[in-house]
Amino acid sequence: MLPFPVFAHVAPTSVSAAVAAIASPGARVVAGGTDLLPSMKHRLFEPTLLVSTRRIAGLRDVGRADDGGMWLGSGLTLREVSRLPEVKAEYPGLVAACRSVATPTIQAMATLGGNVLLDTRCMYYNQPQGWREALGGCLKKDGSVCHVAPRGRGCYATCSADTVPTLVLLGAEVELVSTRAVRRVPVAELYREDGIAPIRMEPDELLTRVWLPRSAGATVHRKLRPRQAIDYAQLLVAAGGQKGAYTVVLGAVTSSPVRVSGADAEAVAEAAWRAVQPLATQLSAATWRKKMVRVETRRAVEALGS
Ligand SMILES: Cc1cc2nc3c(=O)[nH]c(=O)nc-3n(C[C@H](O)[C@H](O)[C@H](O)COP(=O)(O)OP(=O)(O)OC[C@H]3O[C@@H](n4cnc5c(N)ncnc54)[C@H](O)[C@@H]3O)c2cc1C
Ligand code: SF4
Repeated sequence: MLPFPVFAHVAPTSVSAAVAAIASPGARVVAGGTDLLPSMKHRLFEPTLLVSTRRIAGLRDVGRADDGGMWLGSGLTLREVSRLPEVKAEYPGLVAACRSVATPTIQAMATLGGNVLLDTRCMYYNQPQGWREALGGCLKKDGSVCHVAPRGRGCYATCSADTVPTLVLLGAEVELVSTRAVRRVPVAELYREDGIAPIRMEPDELLTRVWLPRSAGATVHRKLRPRQAIDYAQLLVAAGGQKGAYTVVLGAVTSSPVRVSGADAEAVAEAAWRAVQPLATQLSAATWRKKMVRVETRRAVEALGS
């Protein structure tokens, strides 16, 4: 059993009290805690103050936007999002993405906001402290070399959050609140190709809402993984569009989502294959993952059925 580091905990009931609390040094937001708490046990993060969002009622609200789209509170669980009638009717790809995360029990705890802000992952990073120390750490945490690409210049940990490719495809935006400002950022611009610092967000910002534009038709979410539960993706594919103009967003292969487009399934599959160079994982060779980018992209576009 891995012990927690020592930390204090507050559970404010309003957004203003929460942003005031996360402005303190060493503070970090905890929502469902399904990723942060194991990561703290692994000493990947050692916040001295956890600011829980669980008691902020407004973060579980849902509303309609003027453009016919809608917004979802960041504190809604993935299960709650997947059961909303309007999400089921208008954003089926998002429902599939929420339902593909981990297991039903984790979906009942994990929040949409926590999924959007999931840290990048790597087999040399998501390990207990002693395991990592035996290798001397790595660039992302406590070391100076990347074990995945020792001759590379950066960190290649992957953005493996299931909802992210679909949210990018949909053109979703997030609302970020701090004591200084409220700003709206397209989800597509939230990530950068840097496994160490993958999210363009200030440490004192609270993600309050996810805005979805008016639905532009069917979207498909596909997830390639060893088992149909628990496992993180080896590849995520979100597809949308219609004959002559398809768009696909790939996840879990690089540190940020990758967008490609084409006129038909074959063209998009080829563009996807050219756009990414997946690395080997504990369970699969890089060459197989690369082939599967083409296969899964074609399947996703064909599943749109137009
Ligand atoms: C066994 C297991 C399997 C898993 N499989 C998958 C999987 O297949 N796919 C997948 O996507 N995820 C998976 N996860 C990870 C995790 O469960 C989900 O990503 C989940 O959606 C995270 O949400 P959370 O509310 O628990 O986030 P938390 O763990 O509470 O937080 C995650 C991060 O987001 C930050 N954060 C959360 N909410 C906010 C906010 N409102 N404002 C600012 N910062 C915030 C936290 O500070 C932290 O850095 C798995 C986890 C486990 C334990
Ligand atoms: S890819 Fe990043 S997390 Fe993985 S070993 Fe290299 S530096 Fe560490």
